[in-house]
Amino acid sequence: MTIKKIGPTTLERWVDSLIGQQRVFGAQAQGDKFAFAPLTQAARLRLDYDVAVTAPKAFLQPPCETLLRFGARGYESVLDTEPFVLFGVHPYDAVGILQMDTVFAEGQPDIHYLTRRAQATLVVCDVQNASPNVFAGCMNTAVLEEGGDVLLTRINDDYLVEGRSAKGEALMKALASEPEAEAGDLQFRKMVWDHNRQLLRRHELKVKPEDLPAMLDKSYDHPVWEEKSKRCFSCGSCNLVCPTCYCFNVREDVRWDLQNGERVRTWDGCMLTEFALVAGGHNFRRKKAERYRHRYYRKGKYLYDQHRQIACVGCGRCIGACVAKIANPVEVYNRLAEGPR
Ligand code: SF4
Ligand code: SF4
Repeated sequence: MTIKKIGPTTLERWVDSLIGQQRVFGAQAQGDKFAFAPLTQAARLRLDYDVAVTAPKAFLQPPCETLLRFGARGYESVLDTEPFVLFGVHPYDAVGILQMDTVFAEGQPDIHYLTRRAQATLVVCDVQNASPNVFAGCMNTAVLEEGGDVLLTRINDDYLVEGRSAKGEALMKALASEPEAEAGDLQFRKMVWDHNRQLLRRHELKVKPEDLPAMLDKSYDHPVWEEKSKRCFSCGSCNLVCPTCYCFNVREDVRWDLQNGERVRTWDGCMLTEFALVAGGHNFRRKKAERYRHRYYRKGKYLYDQHRQIACVGCGRCIGACVAKIANPVEVYNRLAEGPR
């Protein structure tokens, strides 16, 4: 695969040319935070962002989407078939997206997610500034060794641009006349990766991620679930910001004429009171402690049992989003590692 070295002016020109060809979403400043949003000009792109408020997975599984439209004569599926680029996704968020690819492809493949995903080109960018709560270095997600369509790494004032798939190489056609990266550049990139593995450790996990499932297996009755969840507001913020949460609700919106309507899918979250409420009024996780525990089991054990992937990439968003200050996975897992106390 090709690895080019380009300067900031070429990068800006390249991004502007992409904007002219298809939808491009990239991190942009919004006040003192950053968010992925449609890019209208390359100058607004901030590849030095620390963390995006909402994970870029939102462009693959939107918070609210119409799945189909129906009427008296039948129905038609609604599929998003327009190509787009997610430009500057951090490695840990890219890992989250790769996990979603597995989830939405298994069993009954989700045609809505998969259609949109097939249209997406993922341009990953190595982190330049660590966010206050990131611990991706502890979860082996600070660097994306493989995957994604293009990988960008800042080397002093320049960028290395690596094509990682046919789609990525196609995106890089405009860079054909730019110089190839040299051995020294690749050595520098390796230093950036080693540095980021250490830099993205704002919280230090005392157990290896691969040991979490076995540890959780023994911790179902640990007092931490009751203690921490006492302060939980069941607001679901920790679910909504998480790059690996994908649960959803589906409802039928019928128009006033009672003839036409839409089937709509919206994000849901296991921390919300009604998430496990079923017909007849029974709630499988009525207590806050049950919901709180379930979230950690889901991330650290249940999904690992299914896919051999820990469903926490260490982005740290839940830590910052929780007003009760109880959603730090590192605190919880380190406490479990100490044993029941
Ligand atoms: S559980 Fe928290 S730290 Fe882990 S991926 Fe989700 S939001 Fe990020
Ligand atoms: S963000 Fe905090 S308070 Fe809200 S549901 Fe999650 S753990 Fe509970």
